[in-house]
Formats: sequence, C-alpha cells, structure tokens
Amino acid sequence: MTLIVTGAAGFIGANTVRALLDAGHTVVGLDNYNDYYDPQIKRDRVAALCPDADIRALDLTHRDGLAALFDEVQPTRVIHLAAQAGVRYSLENPHAYVDSNLTGFVNILELCRHRGVAHLVYASSSSVYGDSATPPFSEDQRIDKPRSLYAATKAANELMAYTYAQLYGLHATGLRFFTVYGPWGRPDMAPLLFSRAVLAGRPIDVFNDGRMQRDFTHVSDIVAGILGALAHPSSEDVPHRVFNLGNHTPIELEHFIGVIEAAAGRPAQKVYKPMQPGDMVRTMADTRRAHDAFGYEPVTPIERGLPPVVAWCRDYFGDRA
Ligand code: NAD
Repeated sequence: MTLIVTGAAGFIGANTVRALLDAGHTVVGLDNYNDYYDPQIKRDRVAALCPDADIRALDLTHRDGLAALFDEVQPTRVIHLAAQAGVRYSLENPHAYVDSNLTGFVNILELCRHRGVAHLVYASSSSVYGDSATPPFSEDQRIDKPRSLYAATKAANELMAYTYAQLYGLHATGLRFFTVYGPWGRPDMAPLLFSRAVLAGRPIDVFNDGRMQRDFTHVSDIVAGILGALAHPSSEDVPHRVFNLGNHTPIELEHFIGVIEAAAGRPAQKVYKPMQPGDMVRTMADTRRAHDAFGYEPVTPIERGLPPVVAWCRDYFGDRA
C-alpha cells in the first residue's frame, strides 16, 4: 500500500510509521512539529523510531501544500493521527482545536474524497463518551455529552466522516484510543509526568484523590489495532465505522503510581487534588467490536508495559527528569 500518515512525528504516529515500514508499505508522513510539547522530543522520537521515514513538515490547515502532497504521493490509504490533543489545554486554547481538529480534518476528508483514497483510518478518542455513557464503554452508547472542547472535536470528526461516507461513499474508520502510553510517549500525560517526577523526587498531583481509573493502553496494542483496521476496510454497506481500541482493564491511579514507584525504586510524593474540569472519573473500553471485525486483542498489562517507560524516562531525560 501507499500511505500518507499525518501526525507522523507524534507519539502514536511515529510508532505507526515504524510498523508500516516494517510491513513493507510505502509511507510518507507529515507533521507540523508544533510546540504543544517540546518539538525536540518529536525530532528525537523520529530519529530513534523511524530515521528511514520520509516525513514532511506541513500543517493540516495549509490546503495547497496538503493537496500538492496528495498529488505527489497518490496515497491509496490515509492514516490520520495529527490533532491538537489534550483535554486540559483545550480549556484555554480553543482555536488550536478548531484549526487542527475541525478545519484540518475537513481538509483531509476533502482530499480523500477527491483523490480517490480507498480507506481513511483516523484517530478518535475515549473522551467522546463524556457524560453520556457508562463504563465499560461500547461503541453503540451515546456520545452527545462531551466534557471538553477536545472531546467535542473528536465526536465532530466522527459525524463528519460519517457524512462523507453517506454522501460520497468515502470508506472511513474511526478508532477511539484509550489513554495510550509507552516509551517516547507524550510528556503532558500522566505516565511520563508521574515517572519523571518520581525519578526526580518531585511531588505529583493526584486528582480525584487517586480514585480515578484509566484504561491505560500500551502503544504497541494501539498500533496493532490501527494495522488491523487498515487490513479490514469498511464495506460498501457500512462505509463508516468506529471501534474502541483499549486494554479493557481500568487501573486505579494509586495502583498505577505503585508500579512506577517499584520501577523507579523510590516512593512518590503524592499531593491529593480534587477532580479537574474536563476529566472523566473512569474509562474502560469494551473491545468486542474490534475483536469481531479484525481480531483485536490487547496483550500488554501495565505491570509489563510501564516499567520500560520509567527506564526510558531515566535514559532520555537524565538530569532533566
Ligand atoms: P501527539 O501530540 O504526540 O501527536 C500528534 C502529532 O500531530 C504531533 O506530532 C503534532 O505536531 C501533529 N500535529 C498537530 N496539529 C497538526 C497540524 N495542524 N498539522 C500537522 N501536524 C499536526 O499525540 P498522540 O498521543 O500521538 O495522538 C495521536 C492521535 O491520537 C491524536 O489525534 C490524538 O487526539 C489521538 N488520541 C491520543 C490518545 C493518547 O492517549 N495518546 C488518546 C486518544 C486519542
């Protein structure tokens, strides 16, 4: 296959590009290397994970540049992972979400439609379940009560892709990722924030008094799901589909921190705080739909997946941990 992967310098993107290249596909990535978090991490990540990849510096909102790239590459499949991520940041920076997640997304839809892309696989999020659903979240539950603008843009993406599928026959698959972690992960998310703080002896903020639960999912299980969805495109009858990709094992924050403490060999200094606006108390994926469609089965418990993250933080950040 010939693919364009957006967000290719991102955490999930670089891991996905690696897996696609290893499987023998032709891949061109794009990323705007924005400074939502340190862009040096993105450059180092690409150098470490996929130094052989062709990744262009390009913003999703640059329609002409995007169109020229599609014309040059002529992708048969597109994996769209670029987005303004983060729940808390969306409370202060709404326009970044509209630009990348709505305008950027419609630019991708338009090009997929007009350039005859056979299948678009795009990132949605567990955050779409918000206040409408109860865990374990299954794809047929409602998603009309998001708790943040970030979640609202991801739910909007699903409606937009559905519309393109209905109107123009675009084949599209939305994947709702559940709290992804691994080496080269996002420095704004709990796995890295906590690991670095524990290693450095800094206090950590533990929200909802540690009673929050997250369905932490290892990046290798997410990449396996992306490749699974790619290999099993949607049908003419149901051109748009959504799937949960999660570990279906919610982990209490206290336990999660305990695994980090054991790996770091030192105790965490916990500062208990109330729930933050936009956060969800508990997430848990029902993954039966993805299992039935393409055999999705996550295989990495946090006891095995998290210690290498702590070790990677120690190696990569060193004194800056
Ligand atoms: P990430 O921030 O590491 O990767 C996103 C990449 O997209 C970044 O490298 C960024 O520079 C790029 N990007 C952002 N806006 C862009 C734009 N306008 N033009 C071009 N490039 C742009 O995040 P990630 O964790 O790898 O997330 C990948 C996708 O998965 C995102 O769509 C995110 O919303 C979604 N997601 C992630 C998680 C998670 O736990 N990591 C959970 C649910 C959904």
